[in-house]
Amino acid sequence: MYDVNSKCADDFINHEEILETLAYADENKNNKELIESLIKKASLRKGLSHKEASVLLACQDDELNEKIFRLAEQIKKDFYGNRIVLFAPLYLSNYCINGCTYCPYHMKNKHIARKQLTQEEIRREVIALQDMGHKRLALEAGEDPVHNTMDYYLESIKTIYDIKHKNGAIRRVNINIAATTVDNYRLLKEAGIGTYILFQETYHKESYLQLHPTGPKHDYNYHTEAMDRAMEGGVDDVGIGVLFGLDKYRYEFAGLLMHAEHLEAAFGVGPHTISVPRLRDADDIDSSSFTNGIDDDTFAKIVACIRISVPYTGMIISTREGMNTRERVLHLGISQISGGSKTSVGGYCEPEPEDAKSEQFDVVDNRTLDEVVQWLMQMDYIPSFCTACYRAGRTGDRFMSLCKSGQIQNCCHPNALMTLEEYLMDYASPVTKAIGDKLIDKEVLNVPNEQVRKTVLENLKLIREDNRR
Ligand code: SAM
Repeated sequence: MYDVNSKCADDFINHEEILETLAYADENKNNKELIESLIKKASLRKGLSHKEASVLLACQDDELNEKIFRLAEQIKKDFYGNRIVLFAPLYLSNYCINGCTYCPYHMKNKHIARKQLTQEEIRREVIALQDMGHKRLALEAGEDPVHNTMDYYLESIKTIYDIKHKNGAIRRVNINIAATTVDNYRLLKEAGIGTYILFQETYHKESYLQLHPTGPKHDYNYHTEAMDRAMEGGVDDVGIGVLFGLDKYRYEFAGLLMHAEHLEAAFGVGPHTISVPRLRDADDIDSSSFTNGIDDDTFAKIVACIRISVPYTGMIISTREGMNTRERVLHLGISQISGGSKTSVGGYCEPEPEDAKSEQFDVVDNRTLDEVVQWLMQMDYIPSFCTACYRAGRTGDRFMSLCKSGQIQNCCHPNALMTLEEYLMDYASPVTKAIGDKLIDKEVLNVPNEQVRKTVLENLKLIREDNRR
């Protein structure tokens, strides 16, 4: 039985409810009147239910779809302005005891080189990332209770926060590791993690069980209820996502929104971010052997529909996507992207030898962070290295209320400009710096409050004189 408040995955991601939702969406996919009214409802910026959003996703009318895309762009601008948050993944270990059929970390893969970073290696990787200009990391690891223990993660997080190097310090460490216990989530929170990220992979339980035939991850309910435990452990920023390509995208979309609705209903705060990874080739994985892959147009539609359904939730895109796709979905709703990423364990310090590859998947966008920053600014986006909210304790519902009130514009815009100027001074190539300085000079005039604008101008002057407060 569908029950948004229940703590049982079978209730809040209820299979029958999803099937009914998809049938309703099918019946109404040409119902112009209903679709128009849903677009109008979404334009109030209060979101849509999984059922309503599923109708919009199913809509095949070009004109109405165009309206959905335009609304997504507008909502993106209203809630996030033109800022794009940047981060990089840091792969700590690819030891894994699971049997996921789409992931090269699976236990039976004897071909991939297994590696786990020591604390010294983590230091070296982080310094390499800081030298690019990164301030936010997403830690990644396979699931292996012997190698990848909670103590190892806690020590690694401490190591990272303790590194002071030139002008750089990692200010926010997010973590994407296997589902765990409330006590462990509490420890991660105490260690200062930002967002706890865990992809559902697929919400379709039967497929899930087949795609995860062995190992702890086989337990669908334990995995799906992870965010409830994380919230109980005090982690109020959680990041959800599905791996598109594993099952039918319309099912996944409905499941994703039901998950968000459940977290909001049960804890008063929805997910901080939604990620939209698509399945890629990897070591011994041939993505073409999975039959549910989605094309770029469908992918763009999914991003737009998520944007208008949960306007206050950040959206993340990784380097699994190339430049053109990233550009398209940035306009439609993405608020965070990775740049200069390596998916190998230890890949930031040294390229891996051909015969000892540890990568998780093939990176499609191989540009450097400087190139990504320059590209963003050429499109008039402000690459943001700001972590002020997190450092000021504005996480979970406190962040959401800032976002929902529209105030995010007033405090985020100035912070983003100042941290971008610091990045330009410290790390950018001369061409990137010239483009960035011009953009900042233009953007600072858009700070609405006169007093704040004056302070930002003063601070920018000091940063440019290399005289930081
Ligand atoms: N061990 C953690 C877990 O169990 O969720 C973290 C997993 S991994 C480091 C991060 C994500 O990479 C996975 O959740 C999965 O969605 C994604 N992934 C795995 N194989 C992939 C592939 N072949 N292509 C694209 N993404 C993949």
